[in-house]
Amino acid sequence: MQRRIEKPYEEIRNCILENIPSGIGITRIEYEGPRIAIYTKKPEVLLGQSYVVADIAGMIKKRIVVRADPSVRLPEEEAERRIKEIIPKEAGISAIFFDPATGEVTIEAKKPSLALGKEGANVQEIIKATRWSPKIVKASPIPSKTITQIRHYMCSMSRERERIMREVGEAVFRTPVVETKNVRVTFLGGSMEVGRSAILVQTDESSVLLDCGVNPASTNPRDGFPRLNVPEFDLDRLDAVVITHAHLDHSGFLPFLYKYGYDGPVYCSMPTLSLMTLLQLDYLQVLESEGRVTPYSKADIRDAVLHAITLRFNEVTDIAPDIRLTLHNAGHILGSSIVHLHIGRGLHNIVYTGDFKFGYTRLLRPAASTFPRVETLIMESTYGAPEDVMPPRRSVEEEFARVVNQTLKDGGKVLIPVPAVGRAQEIMVVLDEYMRRGEIAEVPVYVEGMIEEANGIHMAYPTYLSQELKNKILYEDQNPFESEYFVFVKQPDQRFEIVEGGPCVILATSGMMVGGPVLDYFRQLAPDKRNTLLFVTYQVNGSLGRRIQSGLRQVSMVNSEGRVEVVDVNMRVETVEGFTGHSDRAQLINYVRKISPTPRRVVLCHGEPRKCLNMAMTISRMMKLTCRAPSNLESIRLV
Ligand code: ZN
Repeated sequence: MQRRIEKPYEEIRNCILENIPSGIGITRIEYEGPRIAIYTKKPEVLLGQSYVVADIAGMIKKRIVVRADPSVRLPEEEAERRIKEIIPKEAGISAIFFDPATGEVTIEAKKPSLALGKEGANVQEIIKATRWSPKIVKASPIPSKTITQIRHYMCSMSRERERIMREVGEAVFRTPVVETKNVRVTFLGGSMEVGRSAILVQTDESSVLLDCGVNPASTNPRDGFPRLNVPEFDLDRLDAVVITHAHLDHSGFLPFLYKYGYDGPVYCSMPTLSLMTLLQLDYLQVLESEGRVTPYSKADIRDAVLHAITLRFNEVTDIAPDIRLTLHNAGHILGSSIVHLHIGRGLHNIVYTGDFKFGYTRLLRPAASTFPRVETLIMESTYGAPEDVMPPRRSVEEEFARVVNQTLKDGGKVLIPVPAVGRAQEIMVVLDEYMRRGEIAEVPVYVEGMIEEANGIHMAYPTYLSQELKNKILYEDQNPFESEYFVFVKQPDQRFEIVEGGPCVILATSGMMVGGPVLDYFRQLAPDKRNTLLFVTYQVNGSLGRRIQSGLRQVSMVNSEGRVEVVDVNMRVETVEGFTGHSDRAQLINYVRKISPTPRRVVLCHGEPRKCLNMAMTISRMMKLTCRAPSNLESIRLV
């Protein structure tokens, strides 16, 4: 007999009660976001017999979490004392956080394997002794303020979070009005352009928004934000938002939805939640410092955090009665995800790449390309033009080393504008390795902007990094981010000494020179022809970075006294292509070839019009499948 996929709450509850061992004191069975939470007075029994839970999860086709009933949990102080007795001192516990909403306790340890004990013996022991479920994580050598703040905030708002999770569950598992037969996507932003990505997926039953970004280079709300004012977009009927990665052109407009009353979930990976919160807070601060209107406030960012449901890669999750979501590694920045949507009962499958790298980088593994099914592929095309073929990675690094060495030999300084998240870390790993091997002269590398905080977030999630980097951090204690070459600049008044000092490398934000400390360094370094401005990332149309890259040799800037001065650009301006976290043209084409199974339709977004159109033509011709590059506000019916 074929089992129905949607089961109402009563049926789920009965199925659980019939199949669970008796006498374990079940007190509640509740929705917890897209999962079912079973509250019991003896959680250790169920956790010791995980196959029972797995069997039931298979029967009801839902994910199950086992929670200790609050009445049997030890008070937090006492539980903390017991945990410290059970886990050996050598494990180096650095912090313990309790989350009363879920009954989970996060234990940060310098040596997680020692904290776990043999075959997780300590974990079992803690459950038995305290009835809290421990989650053991690696303590970052560079603690991240953002992660700590998010944890404290979630714990302090546990009641509200419980309400949200229950309501999300009720909505996800509601009985659909009609069977899903149609699917369409509407492009609200980020089509034929780079910036403000937002794609609305609608079925007969549900609607889901993929990404909700801003265009950081735009000062005009009309093309700075997604077009949410179209009749298709109804905030009250939105089931879920999925954020592929933290960059502001994908996540920067999310808090705006909460400002206008959205009360639903936002799904993303764990690193994405930390990184996007960091970037959104910074975005507000930059707008405020420039005296510009902010589209939302800090309270709205906190509201988004409260509604976040973090997912691991490859974890299948119901997000609407007829939509299942799975995140896969995208290889673009830490936590970046490719979105897979399974719609209806096998009706249609969408893969949305977000920004992705189908190739080798120092920081991350290449993007996933195998899915259970895919009919429609929505792919970015930032580097979709024929000239966008990057040299092999090895020669990219050698060219980078050559430019840096040449400048240092001439007695100059190398200024590299970098975004705080992604390329900053990639370049740091390269600099550390080349200096260690003696292939780049050993000079101080000054790092300024939010990079240090972003490094801390990278260290907190080592399992998301490339195998090599993960091993260096976890097992070899050779953390490149803690290398002695790096000097983190904490105060703007330190800049004077750096600028007056000897040859060095400076990494500073922002990556496209639209703000941040890089501007101050540039203003002071530009007139000296021994120095080099070295671009390693994509420069969006209209940004100062792009204009200098295209040959601008005089720039009007505000100096430290607040006066406008004209700066002559005598320094060398160089670009080393190939460090990008995006797939180049060859990798994009290769992805369409390699993705398994082969999609029936490819839709291109996230690229300048010329690049999207050229890429669409190439793919249609080569692969003999339908390939389109829609404009913003266009809808495509998929089924
Ligand atoms: Zn990105």
